Amino acid sequence: MSDMIDAHKGMKDHKVRLRARYGVECPECKKFRPRANATILLPQQRCKVDRYVDPRPELTDAEWGDA
Ligand SMILES: [Zn+2]
Repeated sequence: MSDMIDAHKGMKDHKVRLRARYGVECPECKKFRPRANATILLPQQRCKVDRYVDPRPELTDAEWGDA
């Protein structure tokens, strides 16, 4: 059981690292709501607020694993 919890925590940490490394602030959020925090987008991710989709190609397995 504790293994499952560790794996879950590891995945969460990985997400945080992915965002730190490849995340960019949504330009639409910055344009229309400069005083609010912009959504951090990974490649091909859609902003839930304004539906902007990050145009960068999806991360390769190597890039994904590298974070
Ligand atoms: Zn946005």
